[in-house]
Amino acid sequence: MRIAVVELMYCHNCNFQVNADDLSSGVAIRLADNKILCGKCAPLFQHTTSFFVTVPLPGEAQNTTHIVPMPAGSTEDEEWSRDKKVRVLVGAAVLLFVTAAIAIVLLLK
Ligand SMILES: [Zn+2]
Repeated sequence: MRIAVVELMYCHNCNFQVNADDLSSGVAIRLADNKILCGKCAPLFQHTTSFFVTVPLPGEAQNTTHIVPMPAGSTEDEEWSRDKKVRVLVGAAVLLFVTAAIAIVLLLK
């Protein structure tokens, strides 16, 4: 009794099942990286190579991100003016409250 060993192979491109006969007859091809292509897809990939994929892009090695330092003075000024605004607002609120309180006291007399 013989056991037939059937190697199941599928096209890398379209998942079409490729049999050993197709490979041996040259209809289907096996690529260098062990990928199988069926007879339909083979012509599409036969003359392409993954070589170009591995070539690093010219700009890739260079650091393209530039950190622009914020001028220290401007942020300090902004911080200071915001603090000043808060103080002015609090001062105005207190003044308004005191004025209202005085007005209420005068009106109730
Ligand atoms: Zn295919």
